Amino acid sequence: MSAPFVIAVHGGAGPIAPDDEGEAARRGCVLAARAGHALLRAGGSALDAVVEAVAVLEDDPLFNAGTGSVLNEDGEVEMDASVMEGESLRAGAVALVRTVKNPVRLARAVMERTQHVFLAGSGASALAREAGLQEADPRAFVVPKMAARWEREYNKRGLPPVPGTVGAVALDARGHVAAATSTGGISFKRRGRIGDTPLVGCGTYADDASGAVSATGHGEHIIRVVLAKTACDLLEVGLPAERAAEAAIAKLQRVDGSAGLILVSRTGEIVMRYNTDRMARAWIDVSGRERSAFSRDAL
Ligand code: ASP
Repeated sequence: MSAPFVIAVHGGAGPIAPDDEGEAARRGCVLAARAGHALLRAGGSALDAVVEAVAVLEDDPLFNAGTGSVLNEDGEVEMDASVMEGESLRAGAVALVRTVKNPVRLARAVMERTQHVFLAGSGASALAREAGLQEADPRAFVVPKMAARWEREYNKRGLPPVPGTVGAVALDARGHVAAATSTGGISFKRRGRIGDTPLVGCGTYADDASGAVSATGHGEHIIRVVLAKTACDLLEVGLPAERAAEAAIAKLQRVDGSAGLILVSRTGEIVMRYNTDRMARAWIDVSGRERSAFSRDAL
């Protein structure tokens, strides 16, 4: 029997809005999970799989990452992303990206082409050019739904958050795990605001000794409980995967926080937990069985 490999992806935790396209988000997650799983099946690494799955979701205008990102209070897109691999704990992250089509690929470039973990601003843009990554006019990332949302928010502050951050976790046949997360952040955020997504240990964490986690939800809450690393630490001290995910989510009570996470353990268990109304997700387990869901009672 070949060694197990698995993948799970999410398309964002949050409230269910009247215009929420949950079913479409579920389908988008399925396509991303399949893209990552195809790489794993062909012998690709967990890192390849999570980057590819997240890039598929960044390119899908339905999600709040890459094309389709939310706008900040100045009406601009500022995107964050990170990636981590569990074999040697290498990580790469970028913040406030405005012109790169796939911020997750730029995060990978930080990890693989520099001595650093986290780049932002003009240095991150320079790396994108050096790495030959596809760039676009910042307006190309703005979809009509988010432009309309910005208008509404401009006239009436404090609308419910827009879910749609994306992430993926995987275990490959060599026993290595990886995680990646990408987002446009929180709608109408202050210019320069950076959430949990690019912060190693908060939005993303991977360690072959425990597993890999990608988080989504209110970044200011996730950061304060270091959500992804908390879940991995609980796994490492021996909690079953479900208990580790539940205990990490329970920690959010300390900050009255709303968020969700997807987790793959080093042995290939997949767990998803959230305390919000919805978290679109899809996963393909060790037996190759594909499943997906949007909210608690879906599928
Ligand atoms: N965690 C993301 C952020 O705070 C947003 C989200 O997951 O919906 O930037």
